[in-house]
Order: sequence, then structure tokens, then C-alpha cells
Amino acid sequence: MSAEPSLGEFDLIRRFFTRPGPAADGGGVLLGVGDDAAVLRVPAGADLIAAVDTIVEGRHFPVGSDPCSIGHRALAVNLSDVAAMGATPAWATLALTLPSAQPEWLEAFSAGLFALADQHGVALVGGDTSMGPLCISVQVLGFVPRGEALLRSGARNGDVIAVTGTLGDAAAGLALLQSAPKSASGETGSARHFLRQRFEYPTPRVSFGLAARGIASAAMDVSDGLAGDLSKFAAASALGAHVRVERLPLSAPLRAQATPAQALDWALSGGDDYELLLAAPPERVPQLAAAAAACGTALTVIGEFREADGVEWTLDGRPFTPARGGFEHFSRASTQFTV
Ligand code: ADP
Ligand code: MG
Repeated sequence: MSAEPSLGEFDLIRRFFTRPGPAADGGGVLLGVGDDAAVLRVPAGADLIAAVDTIVEGRHFPVGSDPCSIGHRALAVNLSDVAAMGATPAWATLALTLPSAQPEWLEAFSAGLFALADQHGVALVGGDTSMGPLCISVQVLGFVPRGEALLRSGARNGDVIAVTGTLGDAAAGLALLQSAPKSASGETGSARHFLRQRFEYPTPRVSFGLAARGIASAAMDVSDGLAGDLSKFAAASALGAHVRVERLPLSAPLRAQATPAQALDWALSGGDDYELLLAAPPERVPQLAAAAAACGTALTVIGEFREADGVEWTLDGRPFTPARGGFEHFSRASTQFTV
């Protein structure tokens, strides 16, 4: 641990969360950190988008996690929500509750947070700092042309269901972080490294969310596992859905490190994927796939929305029941780590 004495609240804010000069952001910050509140200007003709998510040590990430990853994830989970709205993220606030002010921890945490913020032109414009069990709330604010936000409720009967990237990697990565020593090398080592990275450094699909606006009918992000999240999506659109489980995109490292049944369970119910789930008319799939490819992500059609009650799952044409639903806090099954 550092030989430096613990920092005071105001030194801490100045040293780790205030950056000199104009922020590397997309503009609109009339007043950032330092006053009672930030003053922000939304572009003319835009709707303001707001999302907030909290991550708690021992609940959403293992005790003793790398602080750089914690900073990244705290922002990434919110950028994923903003991406799912087809919006441009612009500003963030940070409510940080810390058991103690350790400079080395704060240095790594803020490096993780600012690295991702800079990638997306997001400025940290305020926050709150207090002492207590480690808990981080980030709010992201963004904007979208008036009336054009991508909603969960926009899916139409006959729309396909498409998902970005691959599912289940983060749940596998979390299981590895909690169990396996990091000693494996060669192919096994690199597969495990990939899976751990998928948990520790999720990639919010911001550019694709923007590209999908105007092509897709509806979107949401997959944070609690496809099984639970798709049910919410279908219900929000007053539709049912059919998913062909054999089509779920599974990464090569996941297939290599898990049995087929375990891989499917993580893909359906593991959580922490932060991929986008979209509804689109079938004739727009090529356009949507091209937009995804331009953003460096795969897009896989896994089923379709239809007039029905609930979600039907089939595996190679036969009925299939996901072993678990999605993650819910306060439910009896909610003892795992997930956001
Ligand atoms: P107040 O008591 O008026 O809420 P604070 O003393 O909590 O003000 O915060 C002072 C300034 O520092 C405010 O502009 C606030 O937004 C900012 N701030 C506090 N904590 C953080 C943080 N962790 N990250 C970024 N800004 C912060
Ligand atoms: Mg305050």
C-alpha cells in the first residue's frame, strides 16, 4: 500500500477527478466540476437522455477487483444503456463511496474511467464523494434528435431479433476470476484471458447504437442475461418472441472453455454481456448487418418477434427451457455477482 497519508475529500476530487483545461469532450459543458452543480447545454432540437447504474463491491464485482476495471465498468454499463437508446453520450457524474482514500487505488480507478470516457468524448462534470462500503454510481447524460430515441416498445410483429457480438463470455470470465488461478499459458491462457477481459472491460456498443437508429425498430442492451432481458423486450412491445437457441452467437474461447450446456446457460442467463438486442423488419437486416460490420461488431439473427404470449425457445426445432431466468436483485436466486 502507499506510504502517502489518506487524502482529504477535496484533495481527492481535485487530484483524481478534475482535469485541467477544456475536457476532451463533444462540447456543451458550460460549467463542470467545482460549483454546486454542472451547467450543460443540449444541442438545439435534441432530447436529453439520462441513465444511472450502481455497482457494489461483492455484489457486481468480486472483492479486491482491479480498480482500473472497476472504473471502466462503472462507466461502461451506463454507456451501454445510452447506446441502446441510439443516443450520443456526452456527460457523466460520479457518486463514489469509498472505505478509504488510497491514492494508488484512485489513480487506477480514475485511469480506467477516463480512458473509456475519452474514447467516447464523455466529460466528467460532477459527482459526490463519501466514505462507506465500496459502491460506485455513474450517471451518463446524452442526447438524441428529438423524438428519435430507440425504445424497447417499438418492435413489430414479424421483426427479426438480432444481437451484437457474442453472449456468455462475461459470465464465464467472472467464473474464472472467482476460481481459476491466472497461471495457464498457451491457447488455454489466451482463451481465459479473453473471457476475463469480457467481464472486466466490456465494450459498450455506442457507435453501433447510433448507426442502428433509423434502421432498427427497437433496441435494448443485454445486461441481465438474454432469457430475462428478451422477455422484458417482448413485453414492452406487447409481443411474444421465438428464439432458435442453436443460433446464439458463442465465442470460440467460450466453446473451448465450457461444456456445450454450460456455455448455453451462460449465454442465456449469465448476465454482464452489454451487447445490444435489436428488432428490425427482415428486409432491413442487410443494412443493419453492414452498419454493425462498419462498427467492428458481428450481428446475428436469433429469432423473431410475433403475436404471442411470452418467449418460445427451441433448440434444433425441439422445445427448450432455459435453466434459469434473468438476474433479479432480491429474488431468491440472486446470490451471484452481476449487474
Ligand atoms: P456539494 O456539497 O455542493 O454537493 P461537493 O463538496 O460534494 O459539493 O463537491 C464539490 C464539487 O466537486 C462539485 O462540483 C461536485 O460535483 C464535484 N465532485 C464531488 N465528488 C466528485 C467526484 N467523485 N467526481 C467528480 N466530481 C466530484
Ligand atoms: Mg455533494
